[in-house]
Amino acid sequence: MASPDFSVLPSVDRLLEDPALAAAAAEYGRAEALAGARRALADARRALGAGGALDPSSLGPAAAAHIAARGRPSLRRVFNLTGVVLHTNLGRAPLPQEAVAAIAEAAGNCNLEYDLETGRRGDRDSHVEALLTELTGAEAALAVNNNAAAVLLVLNSLSAGRDALVSRGELVEIGGSFRMPEIMARAGARMVEVGTTNRTHASDFEAAIGPDTGCVMKVHTSNYEVVGFTASVPDDRLARIAEAAGAPYAVDLGAGQLVDLARYGLPQEPMPGQALAAGAGLVTFSGDKLLGGPQAGIIVGRADLVALLKRNPMRRAMRLGKLSLAALEAVLRLYRDPDRLAERLPALRILTRPVEEIEAQAHRLAPAMEGAEVVTVASRIGSGSLPVERLESRALALSAPGGKALEARAAAFRRLPVPVIGRIAEGRLLFDLRTLDDEDAFLSQLAS
Ligand SMILES: *Cc1c(COP(=O)(O)O)cnc(C)c1O
Repeated sequence: MASPDFSVLPSVDRLLEDPALAAAAAEYGRAEALAGARRALADARRALGAGGALDPSSLGPAAAAHIAARGRPSLRRVFNLTGVVLHTNLGRAPLPQEAVAAIAEAAGNCNLEYDLETGRRGDRDSHVEALLTELTGAEAALAVNNNAAAVLLVLNSLSAGRDALVSRGELVEIGGSFRMPEIMARAGARMVEVGTTNRTHASDFEAAIGPDTGCVMKVHTSNYEVVGFTASVPDDRLARIAEAAGAPYAVDLGAGQLVDLARYGLPQEPMPGQALAAGAGLVTFSGDKLLGGPQAGIIVGRADLVALLKRNPMRRAMRLGKLSLAALEAVLRLYRDPDRLAERLPALRILTRPVEEIEAQAHRLAPAMEGAEVVTVASRIGSGSLPVERLESRALALSAPGGKALEARAAAFRRLPVPVIGRIAEGRLLFDLRTLDDEDAFLSQLAS
């Protein structure tokens, strides 16, 4: 075999003069252009060494492609057409314009912990506390990084070195390795399991509670349901038992909603205000589940208990950043106008989209996607919210001969400039259109 002719390869400097590379250098800088040129030359040398041929004019574009790939941000927008509305892996609730504007406003300097009246140090919770108390009827409120942190902070503040009582039917795993027994252990609380998996009675709590009880905990079983021969203790009863023993009653709602979803024709989830009215001392819930805001954990409840939480040194390690805080404030403000909430809050808009509208969209889009059929599907709310509820929807369905070919088609959609994420079910690739907001952007990608 003839030895490869490396003399066809240009020098790095010559390659840098290629118009494709010159453009890449202008956009990404000389260092990136140089690295891209070296990478393209190394690839070409390997290809020649393996007996391949080389078209020298391909080197510039190949280098530019390497540079562009490195320049693309890792965290990117995608089309979530999976049929799971609040998809934890795809960023949960899409934020409203108002929140996006608030994030931009807070991105520079802002009065994060600065009191503009007095010119002294302020409190970062002040930006959301009044809204949260107004919307839930609580005496006080604070926000942390996510609901997992909220639960950890509550347990540690109330029950470190003491008993935390919880029903055996509520020892949940939320996903992403959030398991209640492990969180309790890390919070320093001694978990006391009460009752049985399917039935827990008031008398079980009365027998377990005592001077060592730091708190009585109720965990909303958000991602599963216990059905059949079951019993649990109602909030108000449990709150009274806890109060009689001088222990706070804390409720982790998970996906707490701030408006009655029945008003929008959606199934009901328990609301923080209801748990507080029933006697809960503290209630925790997520900012980016049914609330429709940014990732955050919200704690509302009695002023003395919230003050205790704020004094916990752990709090500092869980505080919410200014961008999330700005978004949360903007989202909470939308709740002051429930009449327009379903138009303005994307999560609620998506959940309440009429199926006729989705169907019309499906028929508009189907001709643009070769081989697509319009099919009836059921969207899920996601993030463990209302796990057994389904929302009728329409999807574009693509078929392919065999599972491998279907996987390949799904992968091709994920490689689009704005990746399109569907799901494979019953031998078809499905794109649930309930969550498709930007139809024009979607169409223009299909056309190219
Ligand atoms: C989702 C959930 C959590 C965790 O909330 P994140 O905001 O994801 O940290 C905790 N408890 C319950 C009951 C949940 O549903």
